Amino acid sequence: MKNIYGETMEALEQYFVEHNQAKFKATQVFEWLYKKRIHQFDEMRNVSKETISLLQQDFSMDFLKIVTKKSDQDVSKYLFQLEDDNYIEAVLMYHDYGNSLCISTQVGCNMGCHFCESGRLKKVRNLKTSEMVRQVLAVEEDSAIRISHVVLMGIGEPFDNYEEVIKFIDIINHPKGIDIGSRHITVSTSGIVPKIKEFADYEKQVNLAISLHAPNNTIRNSIMEINKAYPIEKLIEAIQYYISKTNRRVTFEYILLKGVNDSRENAKELSTLLAGINCYVNLIPYNETSHIEYKKSDQNTILAFYDELKKNQIAVTIRREFGSNVNAACGQLRSNYKEE
Ligand code: SAH
Ligand code: SF4
Repeated sequence: MKNIYGETMEALEQYFVEHNQAKFKATQVFEWLYKKRIHQFDEMRNVSKETISLLQQDFSMDFLKIVTKKSDQDVSKYLFQLEDDNYIEAVLMYHDYGNSLCISTQVGCNMGCHFCESGRLKKVRNLKTSEMVRQVLAVEEDSAIRISHVVLMGIGEPFDNYEEVIKFIDIINHPKGIDIGSRHITVSTSGIVPKIKEFADYEKQVNLAISLHAPNNTIRNSIMEINKAYPIEKLIEAIQYYISKTNRRVTFEYILLKGVNDSRENAKELSTLLAGINCYVNLIPYNETSHIEYKKSDQNTILAFYDELKKNQIAVTIRREFGSNVNAACGQLRSNYKEE
């Protein structure tokens, strides 16, 4: 049975029309689900009994089960159990500009980045739209906090699950839904070129982040398998297309791995690669994991890398380190839990 949290407004409208019912019922249902946050269909007081039993027949509305939650002062990390006994995670981060939730889009990931826990465990399956929406609902309910920003940077490659991800964005962005502004939503991809082009033509003003992590193909090939399919030239070309279509600034994520991609030379080469592109670089201190041998760059190396980019007029920030105490990097909680 389908879960109701996977239905977009358009899909629900169509559903009601097909069942000879008024289209506006979709709006009523959305308000009950996302404004009033009910847990049972029969709590929808202005909806007829007949409609409620129709919905009960066709949809479930189960919430996600929270298995563990680990918190410190600026982050809460949730591990969820799905109906088929798979595990995913979401990370809530408290910023001064609001609360942002990092959600998972797949169980595991097939992109095979060498530094990543989610890639180490491989993809089991795509998440359904409802499983993404329910991460947001479960965290808001558990934390009693309003989430202002959503980033698709948890377990999985969003563009390897494109259609469900787009439906997810439609639902959380809908004014009658969770109503998170499109400029407050960020999709992060390892660089699936055809999907970046497709995303350029998507009508919403959603942010795009690219996991670049290297200034040239030699280094990128050695840490990211996807670069063999879509090398840097093709990636940059797709990003240029995205920028020309959307006029939006792109974020490049760059994890600093000790002795791999963190030299001053690498910073220079990165500056040349990105010169003239409407972008900014987010330097990410690597979150070490016990299963993978890469090490985090020293603080001085990180600062030198930063300075070199600045000197070359590249907009750059260093990501604040969230949750290294609670293993907040992508996939860590799940993989530790599985191994116990
Ligand atoms: N698959 C997408 C989104 C999920 S990964 C992507 O790769 O962009 C989100 C980000 O976390 C990516 O930039 C990824 O490279 C980074 N990441 C993965 N493992 C990490 C670790 N151990 N420490 C820091 N960042 C990590
Ligand atoms: Fe997948 Fe992203 Fe991890 Fe690479 S970094 S393996 S694309 S989740």
